[in-house]
Amino acid sequence: MNVRTRFAPSPTGYLHIGGARTALFSWLYARKMGGTFILRIEDTDRERSTQASVDAILEGMAWLNLGHDEGPFYQTQRFDRYAEVIQQLVASGHAYRCYCSKEELEQMREGQMARKENPRYNGLWRDRQDETPPAGIEPVIRFRNPQTGVVEINDVVRGKITISNAELDDLIIARSDGTPTYNLTVVVDDIDMQVTHVIRGDDHISNTPRQINIMRALGFEPPKFAHLPMILGSDGQRLSKRHGAVGVMQYRDDGFIPQAVLNYLVRLGWSHGDQEIFSREEMVELFSLEAINRAPSAFNTEKLLWLNQHYIKTLPVAELEAQLQWHLQAQALDISTGPALAAVINAQRERAKTLVEMVAISRYFYEEFAEFDPVAVQKQFKADTADNLLVVHDELAALATWQGEAIHAAIQAACETLGLKLGKVGPPLRVAVTGSASSPSLEITLELIGRERVLQRIQRAIGFIRTLAA
Ligand code: GLU
Repeated sequence: MNVRTRFAPSPTGYLHIGGARTALFSWLYARKMGGTFILRIEDTDRERSTQASVDAILEGMAWLNLGHDEGPFYQTQRFDRYAEVIQQLVASGHAYRCYCSKEELEQMREGQMARKENPRYNGLWRDRQDETPPAGIEPVIRFRNPQTGVVEINDVVRGKITISNAELDDLIIARSDGTPTYNLTVVVDDIDMQVTHVIRGDDHISNTPRQINIMRALGFEPPKFAHLPMILGSDGQRLSKRHGAVGVMQYRDDGFIPQAVLNYLVRLGWSHGDQEIFSREEMVELFSLEAINRAPSAFNTEKLLWLNQHYIKTLPVAELEAQLQWHLQAQALDISTGPALAAVINAQRERAKTLVEMVAISRYFYEEFAEFDPVAVQKQFKADTADNLLVVHDELAALATWQGEAIHAAIQAACETLGLKLGKVGPPLRVAVTGSASSPSLEITLELIGRERVLQRIQRAIGFIRTLAA
């Protein structure tokens, strides 16, 4: 079978974590099976759909590098096709016009509530098609749902689910203005796009039996379904905006790398033994729908951070370099007058959990820092520090080559001259050249900052310490 999956977001907001996971699983399954991944934008709700949301979804998919093979298809461009199918269903008797007024529907509802029944359409117009319709009412079109029998779903994740047709009322498939409703458009698209596997959030599970009935009425057998378990926030409630950043691009802004987010997402509801780290290739190779968990999974920011750090430590430098570009722009750091970015990444990759942090802790390589960290000053700048730094300065100034080993030797020589241990000379030197108490090893830090800046900064620190003492 040629596997065809689809991701079908409604563009009513950004691509959130739950949507991204759905997209990833659909993408993975298509890739794993050598199949086709379709992107379909379900924009029929014209009031809530926006171009900005479409753009945000496409941007999120591109950032995660979940490329589609077909589409994006837009439902708003397929209204003629939906109208055709609706007519076909009316003509074949599988759908009918319903002229109930708002008031009638409201009365129906109230009566049912009073009798403690579930509110549902009672089929009033099901068998009234020969009657003269009331004047002044534009009818809706309802699907004539079977009234007996059951719908069986063999959900790949949840197993067998059986719903009695008696529980399903006659769903509106076209509004009175003729526009199609969600369940109709999904069915028509899944048929036309020859979707073989519908992989989506389990919030859609109640739609599934209705969609299956419509599909069968059109003469098609339904695809396979895999309903993904919910994602919960730390408080056990369905993950939502209340839990903080859930838009995918927010993770980019916060310094996460897409590989880490994908790796994190794949483990939300899917597992392969105890394995936590999966490259894209491994995900594709190991993924299976059968290994999706039934139980909801909880979102865990700590774990995402841990994965991010893992990828910062291990990705090829060129890859990190490419991803850092956006952050350099966003944080307005001009790197044209400093060391090669790749060298800085190598020096800092063990020290940053996010790319935002990476940029923040690397500024001193490229521009002057505004002030010495007051806590570090308190701890490291003593009365004799200025004189000691001067000795270091002169040793460094005399170096023929500005390179790690030579720098190390010069600092050692200064220690000997001063009769002090490196533990006494190094920390104030670090504060002098970086402004703070933490940086990579001294020789690497100094090498990368560059001779001229280092010598100037030591002078600046000496001056600063002397004003402190005065
Ligand atoms: N458009 C629906 C949503 O964004 C998804 C429909 C589907 O996957 O069948 O929730």
